[in-house]
Amino acid sequence: MNDRSVRISCVVPAFNEAANLPNLLTQLSMQLGELSDHWEIIVVDDGSRDRTRAVLAEYADTPGLVVLHFSRNFGKEAALSAGLDRVRGDVCFMLDADLQHPVALMPQMLAAWREGAQMVYFVREHRRDEPFWKRWGSGLLYWLINFGSAVQVPEDAGDFRLLDAKVVAALRALPERNRFMKGLYAWVGFRTQALPYTPEPRLHGKSHFSGRRLLNLALTGLTAFSNVPLRLWSVFGLILALLALIYGGYVTLAYFIDQRPVAGWTTIVAGLMLFGGIQLISIGILGEYLGRVYDEVKQRPRYIVDEQIDNSPFAQEQMA
Ligand code: UDP
Ligand code: MG
Repeated sequence: MNDRSVRISCVVPAFNEAANLPNLLTQLSMQLGELSDHWEIIVVDDGSRDRTRAVLAEYADTPGLVVLHFSRNFGKEAALSAGLDRVRGDVCFMLDADLQHPVALMPQMLAAWREGAQMVYFVREHRRDEPFWKRWGSGLLYWLINFGSAVQVPEDAGDFRLLDAKVVAALRALPERNRFMKGLYAWVGFRTQALPYTPEPRLHGKSHFSGRRLLNLALTGLTAFSNVPLRLWSVFGLILALLALIYGGYVTLAYFIDQRPVAGWTTIVAGLMLFGGIQLISIGILGEYLGRVYDEVKQRPRYIVDEQIDNSPFAQEQMA
């Protein structure tokens, strides 16, 4: 494929990014223009509540721009899926709307693709300003996900990616609703190359991933990619049962051989509370998995598109 004939798609999820979008679209279209004659930018407006829709309307006639407006906020993973469903290029870039993913790095990614990589991503170096619970939490999460698993999900992989059309097709074919993209990228395989970078600070606004959303994402990832939490309780239960058996034997022998009466009110109450607690936790974990299963069984669509703009050059090609 000669240099400027490669067809490039970009997927940009945007939730309340009115302040960042004009800048991003300018930078991105300039960069894409340098790389190829054929490109499309797919902006997925994930039910924004700010001026994002108005801002995008101003660009409605821009050649190469595709905009999907969701009917409400479905979350970043859904926005990425929606973008992937529409992608028609030979390569696809995934980048955030907040300019944390420098477009200047795109030529380097494309070069790696030309040399044979089917997926290229940037390793996110942890920023110093990240709170310790975030770093420890993510360490624990990835340890659990990767423990004893055939597919290793890299912890430090960022969301800034290049995907080959084959990777896009593979991702599109995955039917699940509870999507943890980082895990799915690893799961589909393909020749992958990691490049290092430190993310830029957000230009405008603040991150949407705070406590609750992050916890939700972590639970999705964990339940979708690991059975360790479920197995953990079987092992734990087995150990406890063994200990109880040994202790029970000891107490019985002490009663019959030593004629020692067994006092143990404290032990009973403490034991009762401990095991009651453990059982509730294990039911909670079961419930977490069951809830995900329920979500899958309901077969609801992953997102709903309210309105769309399609100026993609690839749209006409497909119809012809
Ligand atoms: N985003 C989205 N839907 C959401 C939350 C975020 O589409 O519900 C988009 C957001 O507009 C941005 C990207 O996902 O383009 C990453 O979000 P953010 O910058 O808040 O996350 P962080 O960079 O802190 O991981
Ligand atoms: Mg960001």
